Amino acid sequence: MHTLVADHPLIAHKLTALRNVETETPVFRRLTDELVTLLAYEATRDIRVEHVSVQTPLTAADGVKLARPVPLVIPVLRAGIGMLDGITRLLPTADVGFVGLARDEETLVASTYATRLPADLTGRDTFVLDPMLATGGTLETVFRMLATRGAASITGICLLAAPEGVAHLEAAFPADFPIPVKVVTAGLDERLNERGYIMPGLGDAGDRLYGEI
Ligand code: URA
Repeated sequence: MHTLVADHPLIAHKLTALRNVETETPVFRRLTDELVTLLAYEATRDIRVEHVSVQTPLTAADGVKLARPVPLVIPVLRAGIGMLDGITRLLPTADVGFVGLARDEETLVASTYATRLPADLTGRDTFVLDPMLATGGTLETVFRMLATRGAASITGICLLAAPEGVAHLEAAFPADFPIPVKVVTAGLDERLNERGYIMPGLGDAGDRLYGEI
């Protein structure tokens, strides 16, 4: 698995504002949306295209368009929903699948409560949206669902990652894994705390996006 920590002053600026405990939900949502659009630029660097020719007002020009089948974007419920608009703005023709996982706060093990994915993902680039890569258990589960269905590539897009989660995914998806697996994140933090929260982190991403329910 390849991990890319996006290194850009605008991304660092927005991430800092996102971490701030004073940042309230409306601004948190907008910053998340903007950050995902910036991360999507890196995450789609290897997206499949096909060569086409177009007629300009003057002459013919060679170019590219996104290959079919169209990409699949998968927000992980619930916090990943806050990242959906930010990527579909760049990939308006992408299909959207859904996976719901809830973390047991004692064991930190995530269990799946909802899955709405195409049965066959042959030839499709897939993009998984989950703001926090903490233990890595959730993303491992979702990545395996996509690989089992035949995805051509898997890219996780995260706002923040913990070293423990990155190490977990690197062990689960080693270099000889049959398809490309990548994680793009705005920041790689110091560690997980005893409750499985990323430190210094930004708190509970779902709560900050949608409130404590
Ligand atoms: N999920 C969150 O929302 N925040 C963390 O720090 C870890 C997991």
